Amino acid sequence: MSTLQMPPVNEPDRQYYFIDKARTYVRQLGEALGRTPRACITTFGCQMNSKDSEKLLGVLEEIGYEESSEEMADLVIFNTCTVRENANTRVYGRLGRLKPVKKKNPHMMIGLCGCMMQEELVVNKLKDSYRFVDLIFGTHNVYKLAELLVMRFESKGMIIDIWEDTDKIVEDLPTERKYPFKSGVNIMFGCNNFCTYCIVPYVRGRERSRRPEAILSEIKRLASEGVVEIMLLGQNVNSYGRGLPEEITFAKLLEQIAAIPGIQRIRFMTSHPKDLSDELIEVMAREEKICNHLHLPVQAGSSRVLKKMNRIYTKEGYLTLVKKLREKIPDISLTTDIIVGFPGETEEDFLETLAVVKEVRYDSAFTFLYSKRSNTPAATMTDQVPEDIAKERFDRLLKEVQEIAHERTQRFTGQVLDVLVEEVNQHDPQYLTGRLSNNLLVHFPGSEDLIGQIVPVKLSECKGFYYLGEKLEQGE
Ligand code: SAM
Ligand code: SF4
Repeated sequence: MSTLQMPPVNEPDRQYYFIDKARTYVRQLGEALGRTPRACITTFGCQMNSKDSEKLLGVLEEIGYEESSEEMADLVIFNTCTVRENANTRVYGRLGRLKPVKKKNPHMMIGLCGCMMQEELVVNKLKDSYRFVDLIFGTHNVYKLAELLVMRFESKGMIIDIWEDTDKIVEDLPTERKYPFKSGVNIMFGCNNFCTYCIVPYVRGRERSRRPEAILSEIKRLASEGVVEIMLLGQNVNSYGRGLPEEITFAKLLEQIAAIPGIQRIRFMTSHPKDLSDELIEVMAREEKICNHLHLPVQAGSSRVLKKMNRIYTKEGYLTLVKKLREKIPDISLTTDIIVGFPGETEEDFLETLAVVKEVRYDSAFTFLYSKRSNTPAATMTDQVPEDIAKERFDRLLKEVQEIAHERTQRFTGQVLDVLVEEVNQHDPQYLTGRLSNNLLVHFPGSEDLIGQIVPVKLSECKGFYYLGEKLEQGE
């Protein structure tokens, strides 16, 4: 065989070689079907997964698929989550429903990727009971989709490619953005924190930061394409830069991003309280482009439980941080994640969580029932909280969180604030829907041509967790 036909060894050249090759197979499939082959990616879980799905779709479009609904698709990919057990249950349910569909459509392919595929038990179950799945890959080799599809087209059998970990970051592959005016940008991958309840470090691997030049050049390109808002993504953005050859902190990276012309709003998630530096708070206070919102997961209000969770901060430390943030950025919107029913949580511990919620007064909070994840230290703790007790606490917490969020949301009534217009309202086409800097939703009458623009809107009526408003005309 001539060496010219061998795939290149280095990335991204290797993937461009397979993208070319896959295009031929997809064209042949199109000829057999008498139409362009269609693909659908369903994303479960967090923004990291949404971002990965954009990369997968970019490759699929490049090789000749067109995006469609799941019902119409010749290739269905589930990009899975496994943070809580119910995420896994949902995937098995959806997969079961696809089996008869695939039986009727012999050309159809089903792919599974993402966090759930990094679990050995899951892959074994799929191998045993879901033989109709064509492609299984994990979180570390998402960039290899074209290569894996070529393998599937050439072998006809189930293709499984799971890596335990990687130190590789492959840049410059195609991606298909969901919105033309806003985009997520990965700044780091993986997590080193090993909170005792959490499966993420096991399925997303060790923390690794992207080089700042790669991040900055991606954002400059996005800005030149009309993106005005970016969301920097990482499991713990505050530890950005560790392990890189250059001296850089997350705060310094933010300053460099804020200097890019065209970018008007910068968001980021998630911030771990243990690494939130004074330098970062200063930059957030100083840089107008950084949104007036911080998602700062507390997880629990009892220092005893926080220690068992391996969160490396205490209740007092967290509250001091909140005080500092509010002093420097007085009207900042704070949101959080809270887990109820962590092993060993007593009524007293839970009351401390409620007290923290009342003291901080979050603008909103994601509340979760603790879910046992295999191989995490918390799963083998002997003092698991009975389900009925956890559920009863969860309901009390949710009520408190919602009452406070409702009160907090109202504080903007009558103000004129900038809204980034995102879409035509899904219920009333006369209305547009957009977001404030603090992430609150606003609906107001307006025409489609405003999508992607930042416009001043008077917030006339608070409807609980969102606003109805009117756009101000020039000179008003
Ligand atoms: N890296 C982020 C951080 O530390 O805040 C969070 C990532 S995780 C995908 C999102 C949230 O899921 C966590 O903040 C936590 O509240 C929740 N979570 C993680 N593991 C969980 C579990 N086993 N049971 C219930 N909730 C869990
Ligand atoms: Fe999970 Fe903790 Fe890492 Fe967040 S910081 S991803 S909760 S281990």
